[in-house]
Amino acid sequence: MSVEPERIRALDGDRMISIRQTVSSYAVMLDGGSLETMELTAAQARGFECLTCRAQHTAASGAFQPVGRIPSVGSVFQCPRCAGGAR
Ligand SMILES: [Zn+2]
Repeated sequence: MSVEPERIRALDGDRMISIRQTVSSYAVMLDGGSLETMELTAAQARGFECLTCRAQHTAASGAFQPVGRIPSVGSVFQCPRCAGGAR
């Protein structure tokens, strides 16, 4: 499953702001197989932002790398810069 930038653009401003400000704990299944509890914004949990630096996932930001998933929420991603540094 990948996040389409079109879906992000489809969100109106108020909705985008609210998901960027809502922070919750999520149990993240990392691709390495470990399960970690992380404090993430709703935007991070839905793959709209980089898991590490919160860069926004846009058409201009380059292809984000999937790094794991949150059961029943979605996949989490890292921007090319963070994904490159971690591997
Ligand atoms: Zn990043």
